[in-house]
Amino acid sequence: MSDKSSAAVRISELRKLIEYHSNAYYNSDSPEIEDDEYDALMRELRDLEKKYPEFSDENSPTVKVGGNASSKFASVVHDVAMQSLQDVFSMDEVKEFCEKFSGYSDVEYVVERKIDGLSVSLEYTNGVLTRGSTRGDGRTGEDITENILTIESIPHKIDTAAEFLEVRGEVYMPRKTFAALNAYQEENGFKTFKNPRNAAAGSLRQKDAAVTASRGLDIFVFNVQQVRGAEFKTHSESLEFLKGCGFHVSPEFTVAKNFDEVAAAINKIGELRGELEYDIDGAVVKINSLNLREIAGTTSKFPKWAVAFKYPPEQKETILRDIEITVGRTGVLTPTGIFDPVLLAGTSVGRASLHNQDYISQKDIRIGDLVVLRKAGEIIPEVVSVAKHGDGEPYVMPEVCPSCGEKVFRLEDEAALRCLNPECPAQLTRNIIHFASRDAMDIDGMGPAVVDQLINKGLISSPADLYRLTEQDIAGLERMGKKSAQNLVAAIEKSKSNPLHKLIFALGIRHIGETASRQLADEFKNMQALMNASPEDFSAIEGFGEVMAESICDYFSTESARELIERLAEFGVNMEVANSENDEPASDKLNGLTFVITGTLDGMTRDEAKALIIANGGKVAASVSKKTSCLLAGEKAGSKLTKAEQLGVRVIGLDELNDMLK
Ligand code: NAD
Repeated sequence: MSDKSSAAVRISELRKLIEYHSNAYYNSDSPEIEDDEYDALMRELRDLEKKYPEFSDENSPTVKVGGNASSKFASVVHDVAMQSLQDVFSMDEVKEFCEKFSGYSDVEYVVERKIDGLSVSLEYTNGVLTRGSTRGDGRTGEDITENILTIESIPHKIDTAAEFLEVRGEVYMPRKTFAALNAYQEENGFKTFKNPRNAAAGSLRQKDAAVTASRGLDIFVFNVQQVRGAEFKTHSESLEFLKGCGFHVSPEFTVAKNFDEVAAAINKIGELRGELEYDIDGAVVKINSLNLREIAGTTSKFPKWAVAFKYPPEQKETILRDIEITVGRTGVLTPTGIFDPVLLAGTSVGRASLHNQDYISQKDIRIGDLVVLRKAGEIIPEVVSVAKHGDGEPYVMPEVCPSCGEKVFRLEDEAALRCLNPECPAQLTRNIIHFASRDAMDIDGMGPAVVDQLINKGLISSPADLYRLTEQDIAGLERMGKKSAQNLVAAIEKSKSNPLHKLIFALGIRHIGETASRQLADEFKNMQALMNASPEDFSAIEGFGEVMAESICDYFSTESARELIERLAEFGVNMEVANSENDEPASDKLNGLTFVITGTLDGMTRDEAKALIIANGGKVAASVSKKTSCLLAGEKAGSKLTKAEQLGVRVIGLDELNDMLK
């Protein structure tokens, strides 16, 4: 085959391959290859198309913005295209870019962190956030206003004279939030996210805005797309304006006068990138003068006035010394690789999760291998590949639980192995730590070190045993004085009168988080009714799916769960919703009406208002939806008010509520 015909074949192959990975990344939020591998494919295609322009095609991924608007959401046509950025991978290319503009007098460049998240547009009409959308294919995006409204750092109202403003920003998930989310997903047998960027995209493009709200997303804005009623000459001026409006603006941007200053700013960002609280996937260099931007123009895919510099990923080789198996609270066995420590993205790495048997088998990871390690998205260490096998055999996960010795199971549709023995000590420790944690029974002082000792000394083997501990039992533990023992016993005693929802959450039922626990308490009012409910009863609760319903029924069907509840009740742990909420209704004037309460009410707390509504036959829900009858709003009402206004839900104050009760 001639060079030209083999180039034609490769170009067609590359386009198909890139389309496939683009779809997995943008539309399914579930990439199958690393970004630098994707970038290498794109670069190869770009180089071939440059060499053989006769094969250029307007549908090639090199000229189209990746991504599509899914039909899950209403579509939004962008007045100003949301373009991509031209990637560059060397300082020579940055220099080439800077030199293109060096003929203009007083040229300035702005260097910013390239936040690794999901691009969004926010539109403000007369200072009020009216629409939020995704980039989609750059021309048509998805209307995600409801989800955008749940992100705390996005102002719903801004103080500006501009009658219309469209801002572009990057929604991202902070690294810590990501780590906590993935730990939760793994622990509960849900799909984990590959990196914070995919977690952010997956969380923002949710049909249920409540899920987005629970995911701790944040934003940095970096561009004014269009504005009416304000004028700027430079990009840096517009960023200052956005700061003044209350936005989180692209952090620590640098205004540079020449290539050397640009290079210094890029290097500085590179040095810091391992230490930031969020991922960046490069640095963006932009022309500062908006007039010069106009002159530079754009291609169909990127502006010609900016480039994105991509840092090479840091990888190191090291020896895998051992594979340690830990057992989580829900019995999942997780293999962790133990390596000779290496320095990666600023920290020493000696351990990395190997996830499950499939992951280990696919990469054929064996103890004694020389492996390539890197930090995925600068944060989570992972094994990229095996560089060289040692003399170890293919690794097979144990058939029995390393903690209790019982046989482990691989449940249908799960990659993980689980120990199903409810009395397994590894699960017991975690169960009790969870039981005593703040959002659960809130037993101050009952941390992991204390729980470990209590179990090791044989003083507890169930959460119920906490309630028979004495001061003497506790004073005998390491680093526990008389006073601390008294405090701990008092904290245990106090937890007996916790509201019912805290106890439900404390039981650690799979898939039942804090919000679901509150809903269960509201619905069933006491533990007995909850235990006797049927799957249909659970499925009828708003937001409860089959998996949750099944999980609760499975939990209460076990002998050990019923015994635990019985013992807790004997010790005097509260099993009911407080009386004020359980009373016979004072009237049925609010029958059939669902209220949501927000803001500071004048002369009544929100809990009092809730009790009043329930006492008169009404219902109180946590979030505004089309089913909400009235929003009871006080001072400083926030996103709920905006949402109610958007949905046309009636908004009332306390006076109107009192009128309804007359
Ligand atoms: P891009 O991510 O390289 O650049 C454009 C984006 O950068 C914009 O959408 C913008 O929102 C964002 N951005 C963040 N901070 C910014 C700032 N300060 N100023 C300006 N823009 C800023 O381009 P792209 O076309 O969206 O995506 C390509 C990227 O996605 C590459 O990094 C590629 O590796 C990755 N990708 C990976 C896969 C995979 O399978 N792993 C597939 C497709 C794309």
